Amino acid sequence: MVLAGKTAVITGSNSGIGLGVAWALARAGADVVLNSFTDRDEDHALAASIAAETGVTARYIKADMSKGDECRGLIDAAGRCDILVNNAGIQHVAPIDEFPTEKWDAIIAINLSSAFHTTAVALPKMRSAGWGRVVNIASAHGLTASPYKAAYIAAKHGIVGLSKTTALETAEEPITANAICPGYVLTPLVEAQIPDTMKKYGMGREEVIKKVMLERQPSREFATVEQIGGTTVFLCSDAAAQITGTTISVDGGWTAL
Ligand code: NAD
Repeated sequence: MVLAGKTAVITGSNSGIGLGVAWALARAGADVVLNSFTDRDEDHALAASIAAETGVTARYIKADMSKGDECRGLIDAAGRCDILVNNAGIQHVAPIDEFPTEKWDAIIAINLSSAFHTTAVALPKMRSAGWGRVVNIASAHGLTASPYKAAYIAAKHGIVGLSKTTALETAEEPITANAICPGYVLTPLVEAQIPDTMKKYGMGREEVIKKVMLERQPSREFATVEQIGGTTVFLCSDAAAQITGTTISVDGGWTAL
C-alpha cells in the first residue's frame, strides 16, 4: 500500500469531493481524518465504513473551517498530518454590487483562510515526520473567471497562490504543495441542481447536463469524485515528488478554451 503509515486530514469531507478523496486515500493505505462542522452520528458512521472496508484507521473530527482557531484545532487534534487536503468550500452567486458582505466573508474564510490556518499547523508536523503533501482543492475558477461568483473566484485564485507560496517555502524539503483544479464534478450538490434546471429550461436530464451545466466543459462529461481522489493519490505518490507549486486541471478541457 503506497500510503501505508501516513495520516491524511481532509477538510470538508462528509460529502462530495472530500469524501471521495478520503476513500481514495484510505484505499491507498493512508489513515484518514474526516471533517465538517456538524457532529452527527452519520458523520462518524462515514469514518466507520471507510475503516471497515479498507482496514485503515478513520476518524471524524468536527471543526468549523470558517473559524481560524477551529482550523488549527483540527490539525492539532489529528495528531499526525502527513497529507493535508484543503477541500472545504461553499458558493454564493450574486452580482458584485449586490453580493452580501457576510457571504463574501464566509466564502473567503472557508474556501481560502482555512487553508492558511491548517497549513500553518500542518507544516511543522510534516517537517518533523520528514515527508509531507499539501493538496488544495481549487477549481477551474482558480484559473478563469465567471460573472456573479466574485468571492468564490477570488478565494480559488487565492488558494492557487497559497499553494505556490507553500511550495516555495518547502522547496528544499521532502514536502510538496499543489492545487487540483476541477471543472464540474457530479457531487450531491450538483446532482440536486439538475431537476430545477430541467424545469427551468424545459429540457431532459442529458440535454440539460450537456447544453446548460457543461456548456464550458468541452468533454461534456462531469469529472467524478473518484478522478479527483485518484489525482490526489498521484500527487501523494513518489512519482509526483518533483511536482510542486503547480496546478493540475481535471476539467474536461475547460481551461484549454
Ligand atoms: P459539497 O458541498 O459536497 O462539499 C463541501 C464540503 O465542505 C462538505 O463536506 C461540507 O460539509 C464542507 N463544509 C462546508 N462548510 C464548512 C465549514 N464551515 N467547516 C467545515 N466543513 C465545511 O461540495 P463539493 O462539490 O464536494 O465541493 C468540495 C470542494 O470542491 C469545494 O472546495 C469546491 O469549491 C470544490 N469544487 C467543486 C466542484 C464541483 O463541481 N462540485 C468543482 C470545482 C471545485
